[in-house]
Amino acid sequence: MNLHEYQAKQIFKDYGIPVLPWRIVESADEAKIAAEELGCPVIVKAQVHAGGRGKAGGVKFAATVDEAVDAASAMLGTRMVTHQTGPSGVPVNKVMVTPAADIAHEYYLSVVMDGDEGAPVIIATREGGVEIEQVAEEHPEKIVRIVGDPLIGLLPYRARDAALALGFPSTLIRPATALISNAYRIFTDNDCSLVEINPLIETEDGKLIALDAKVGIEDDALFRHAGLRGLHDPDQMDPLEREASEFDLAYVKLEGGRVGCMVNGAGLAMATMDITKWAGAEPANFLDIGGSADLDRIEHAFKIIVSDPDVEIILVNLFAGIARSDVVATGVINAAREVGSTKPVVAAMRGTNAEEGLQLFEESGMDITPAPDMASAAIVLRDKLASMGGGN
Ligand code: GDP
Ligand code: MG
Repeated sequence: MNLHEYQAKQIFKDYGIPVLPWRIVESADEAKIAAEELGCPVIVKAQVHAGGRGKAGGVKFAATVDEAVDAASAMLGTRMVTHQTGPSGVPVNKVMVTPAADIAHEYYLSVVMDGDEGAPVIIATREGGVEIEQVAEEHPEKIVRIVGDPLIGLLPYRARDAALALGFPSTLIRPATALISNAYRIFTDNDCSLVEINPLIETEDGKLIALDAKVGIEDDALFRHAGLRGLHDPDQMDPLEREASEFDLAYVKLEGGRVGCMVNGAGLAMATMDITKWAGAEPANFLDIGGSADLDRIEHAFKIIVSDPDVEIILVNLFAGIARSDVVATGVINAAREVGSTKPVVAAMRGTNAEEGLQLFEESGMDITPAPDMASAAIVLRDKLASMGGGN
């Protein structure tokens, strides 16, 4: 789960990481009051679950109250497209107004999980403000990596090592060390997947400030963070992903494909994407119905897949263990009838009640081609795609 910048900054504040004051506004009138109260110049920032706002016009400098009002009005109610969003972007419903800072230097600091080390790692560089990927590619020697210990945390001397390696002026070593320790504590206390400060700035008058804040929380740990769960903003999600999550279905939208994939299990999802590509097309999405799928959830799952306008054909690939093939087949048939979908379906089923499931498809009178295994489904899919022509 991603947080908004303003939510992340509140956590920073609670953990003693210096941030500038801010106001969150939802209208031009509120923007006016905020700019007057904070005093210009201010920065107006779109609150969306995506980075790269600066380049996309979502971070605007305003020298006067009028400019702040104009900047907020131009952003509110629009959809922002950055290099981190899909082409349809994400809605701007809230805007942050915050005093403009005088930047002397921009640093980059983040805490992420290092899978190889099995521990959180601090990744930082003196070269902040730009894409970290670019620094990593062009100047890997400028990236500082300090691995924490999952049991004892980040020892103070390690945080100090990081601060020294980043080349802070001597007066800032102490506050930078504290800041790095605090960022690490935020990460572990809250089961984060990411804590990122880009840029972390040194101001002209020698202060350290987190000018931007990005925090992601591990979904699987949300059950033990009731307070954080309340910060979820479903408006930022793709509408179909949101609907899927409400039914506890794992749906992932993929750009540029035309085959909808319905599977049970993440490994099978990978294999299904492989056979889709083998058949000559790209997947438009995949939806994992999980283990104990009941009829209602199957129907919702299928409706979500067909309502993706990119989907021209659906590949169902089921390895039924706890889930039952006949229930899945009934769900698919019911849903297709209910929404009047004429999109062709290719369905491979093995495991529990596979024969019954395949027979239901056979007798449905709909454009559903049952297949006893994945290989035959791949061949049917390839032939159908060839006869449909077009696209990828
Ligand atoms: P992002 O593009 O979504 O990561 O948004 P940021 O909050 O990181 O802002 C993008 C860039 O705008 C920063 O790297 C800064 O260079 C600039 N910026 C943001 N806030 C301020 C500010 O208060 N003063 C100045 N001078 N520049 C700012
Ligand atoms: Mg940033």
